[in-house]
Amino acid sequence: MTSGQSLAEVYDAEQFRATGKELIDVLADHFRDLQHKKGKKVYPNHAPEDELQFWQEDLEQKSNPIQTLTTLLNRSQQTQHPRYMGHQTAVPAPISALTGLVTNLVNNSTGVFEMGPVSNAMERVITDFTAKKVGYGSSASGIMTSGGSLANLTALLAARKDKAPHNVWEEGHNEKLAVLVSEEAHYCIDWAARILGLGDKGIIKVPVDQDFKIRTDLLPQYLNKAKADGLHVFCIIGCAGSTATGSYDDLEVLAEFSQAHNLWLHVDGAHGGAVVFSEKYQHLARGIEKADSVAIDFHKMLMTPVLSTALMFKEGNKIYRTFAQRAQYLWDSPETEEWYNSAKRTFECSKPFLSAQVYLILKTHGMDIFEKNVNKLYDSAKLLAQLITAKPEFDLVHEPESNIVNFRYVPNKEMTIAELNSLNADIRKRLVASGNFYIVQTTIADQRTLRCSVMNPLTSKADFVELLNEIEKEAASILGSELAHV
Ligand SMILES: *Cc1c(COP(=O)(O)O)cnc(C)c1O
Repeated sequence: MTSGQSLAEVYDAEQFRATGKELIDVLADHFRDLQHKKGKKVYPNHAPEDELQFWQEDLEQKSNPIQTLTTLLNRSQQTQHPRYMGHQTAVPAPISALTGLVTNLVNNSTGVFEMGPVSNAMERVITDFTAKKVGYGSSASGIMTSGGSLANLTALLAARKDKAPHNVWEEGHNEKLAVLVSEEAHYCIDWAARILGLGDKGIIKVPVDQDFKIRTDLLPQYLNKAKADGLHVFCIIGCAGSTATGSYDDLEVLAEFSQAHNLWLHVDGAHGGAVVFSEKYQHLARGIEKADSVAIDFHKMLMTPVLSTALMFKEGNKIYRTFAQRAQYLWDSPETEEWYNSAKRTFECSKPFLSAQVYLILKTHGMDIFEKNVNKLYDSAKLLAQLITAKPEFDLVHEPESNIVNFRYVPNKEMTIAELNSLNADIRKRLVASGNFYIVQTTIADQRTLRCSVMNPLTSKADFVELLNEIEKEAASILGSELAHV
């Protein structure tokens, strides 16, 4: 252990100043080197056990915080690297990181107004702004919450409160409830439904078409079958977009169907709901304004660090009813709707100051900065798809609607699916180990695909060209060494 300090030293302002100034330089240098791809790996690729051992041993070593933080930086996944194209994690705008420093230090927890006056007000500003972009009217309102998973769970709770025949919150389950959702939905929808107590039968997964969109033509049939099975369907969840392929369900049709059958429509826009900020791409989520609730993650395509999510309700008062509770020690008047006491509307009691990072990005870089980012990422994905299509040995799995591109390397049409799955998995493994690129993989229709989410607006055409070249090189070396072993 390092020498124990006194508590007075922990809170010493001059110590903070000195470390802080030094740290900003370290961060800025790191950031600059990543952008210029100077000697930095995208992903350090240590095995889990090695990483664990490293930090177990590190804790016993003497080092100052700058040294430890520099090591932390260098051993991390580098989302700021233009050749990071992995999972759907934002490349945070640096101003959001600086804002996080401030909000961490003041540590205002948003639940009650007096513990987070700025936080509650900014949250209102950001959710009102976002609700307007969704296309909601004046009775809409929203909350911010820690992530899309929690937002989806919260939306399903609100849906159940509004549409279930009984008050499950107070009475427990009296009947079998169910939701309808595309089989391509994020797994957290499945979990949310299970947490609500719906069980296997209560999560009705509707097949998708060849574009990975929910088959709306099957909805009447699935709803009737559910009724015949004694289930009460209370909600449909639309994907904007789906997890594996970023495909957008037809929200217009889902809204029409929901209204006709008195169902709640929730849109999981954790990833692709961000198009509401883009004139060019908002058509993908046409009809979103008819949904009863919409979740959008800022930490996916909207430039903030994890976690920061807006959950908006078309009828804002419905969220208060969801969490009807009597926390006398917190509230003067538990029954009244007070936007400024945000814990009345969300699962979280203590809640981070989530809105400040979004607010500072907009205020610093302009109210259209999200539009610029979404357009750039979606345009870039289309460019990557074109480059893939132009190469005969690459198969594009689907035209990208969003910034997610799935493709496979298929050098030879005679190869079996198993051989191609193994080849593509090996290619990815080598690519990641090289540290030159970071991409992920998924399985679509039993076929292993290489998967890129274009998250960094600084990723250029040259990066894509280089990526495809490296994939070819890795493949040649894998196939070459296999031949050598025959
Ligand atoms: C990321 C994602 C989620 C989960 O959101 P978290 O913020 O990671 O909790 C849910 N649905 C979709 C479509 C997503 O992309």
